[in-house]
Amino acid sequence: AETRGLNFVEQIVADDLREGKNGGRLNTRFPPEPNGYLHIGHAKAICMDFGVAERFGGTCNLRFDDTNPVKEDVEYVDAIREDIHWLGFDWGDREYYASDYFPQLFDLACRMIKEGKAYVDDQTSEEIARQKGTPTEPGQESPYRSRTPEENLDLFMRMNAGEFDEGARVLRAKIDMASPNMHFRDPIMYRIIKTPHHRTGDKWKVYPMYDFAHGQSDYFEGVTHSICTLEFVVHRPLYEYFVKELADESYCPRQIEFNRLNLTYTVMSKRKLLQLVQEGLVDGWDDPRMPTISGMRRRGYTPRSIRNFIDKIGYTKYEALNSVSLLEHAVRDDLNAIATRGMAVINPVKLIVTNYPDDQVEMLSMDNNPEQPDAGTHTMPFSRELYIERDDFMENPPKKFFRLAPDQEVRLKGGYIVKCTGVKKADDGTIEEIYCTYDPDTRSGLPGSMRKVKGTLHWVSARHAVDATVKLYDRLFSVENPAAETDRDFRELLNPDSLVTVEGVKVEPFLAENARQGEHFQFQRIGYFTPDCSSTPDNLVFNRTIALKDSWEK
Ligand code: ATP
Ligand code: MG
Ligand code: MG
Repeated sequence: AETRGLNFVEQIVADDLREGKNGGRLNTRFPPEPNGYLHIGHAKAICMDFGVAERFGGTCNLRFDDTNPVKEDVEYVDAIREDIHWLGFDWGDREYYASDYFPQLFDLACRMIKEGKAYVDDQTSEEIARQKGTPTEPGQESPYRSRTPEENLDLFMRMNAGEFDEGARVLRAKIDMASPNMHFRDPIMYRIIKTPHHRTGDKWKVYPMYDFAHGQSDYFEGVTHSICTLEFVVHRPLYEYFVKELADESYCPRQIEFNRLNLTYTVMSKRKLLQLVQEGLVDGWDDPRMPTISGMRRRGYTPRSIRNFIDKIGYTKYEALNSVSLLEHAVRDDLNAIATRGMAVINPVKLIVTNYPDDQVEMLSMDNNPEQPDAGTHTMPFSRELYIERDDFMENPPKKFFRLAPDQEVRLKGGYIVKCTGVKKADDGTIEEIYCTYDPDTRSGLPGSMRKVKGTLHWVSARHAVDATVKLYDRLFSVENPAAETDRDFRELLNPDSLVTVEGVKVEPFLAENARQGEHFQFQRIGYFTPDCSSTPDNLVFNRTIALKDSWEK
């Protein structure tokens, strides 16, 4: 059960229900246009639309807002369904398409034409835009505004029969060219499009505009609360104007607006995301750097972390730019609780335990997750030749370097305390091997392991380790708010270091054996990783979901 207080939208819904509006029914909808993949902004809308229905015992429809065949595709429909399910929401059999309402919308348009409330305009959209006027000056009436209903009806039928070219004519509502609300200045209701539609084929040659389709679709579906983002505040009077053509006192949908989600270091416009995909600047919609749901899934973010983040930022009436660090905190919190611990060495150098028998292998027990006592343990081989991180050794260390250095001791996590005895260097000075001795009494769990040493290193057994590739991701853009840099092409603002691929990483056998998609691991001391969709047993690839600590925060 929810313990959080009501947000302002939920408060409105609660009041409406208490007053018995719409017969006490609650029905919301999530209305994506299938012209791209869902992003984290959509997740905010999904959590609202489905969340409010869940909380108050209502229903939420999934409605594909498929009124523009030029940009839409079934690939997107399928991806949208998958992403909503993954986030943990279900619409049951309440899946609808705005295109299913094309007949009713067309009938309504015809009725409005007959009643003198709509007319066919032969001007181009540029001419129409020029006549709109300004908020302080009235617009100019179209020379076609006084056509008779008969002529308008005939032209509208012929528009839909395909007699005219795209852009040659539009259907406009006849409202008020002097209205202080610009959206009331004879808005366009229909335009001609000849591209076939992914569901209705070439049945229609005219397609409704958003403002003429959305409220009516809400009405046809019985939606009571049509929750959307703030940019639609200015559209609300028009929403209500068109809905009034259908609604009566017993039932009328109501539009409520909240603030969009904007995140630092990314863009949220589908047009821009599509451009990144089409121009090959990222590896598809599900590139782990993308702000898409599918990208975040591939990167290893969990649905719970996304939902917790959205809960935390909340819903308001004011636009804001949210820090991506908040999302990353939520991801770390969740992964800390659920990720299976393992060891991997990203930049390996050999550590040879000179007093350890060459033919000996010990299987050491490791906790799968210290945060979850019932997560159990797994074993990890220890042998004479190991790998540790190159960075964890310094020949001439500064004070307070608590890792490995000549004559210094460290603990090998879950294993023994070792003391460095020397190194072997190449001609150019590169360290090729590090030598050490181990103290047999200090194995993890033995009384001797209680001896204090300052540093603990992760390691893998060289003979048993499996090679892997890891992909280290950083922010996709190098500026906080790419959308605000209006004088620069957003593609110039991409972070050139957003992906670093490291090969020859050494992972313990347990990680290799369990590298299934959807698994979450913490590579000890490094970060959280998940197998990429391209990973195979012979060619392991891990995505770094996130580092253990936020390196951007000082
Ligand atoms: P774009 O303008 O980039 O094409 P859109 O808003 O038109 O995106 P839709 O598919 O129409 O994309 O969006 C479906 C729903 O998701 C709408 O109700 C919209 O208000 C909501 N939504 C889209 N982006 C965000 C966002 N950044 N934050 C919150 N809600 C969003
Ligand atoms: Mg859009
Ligand atoms: Mg939209």
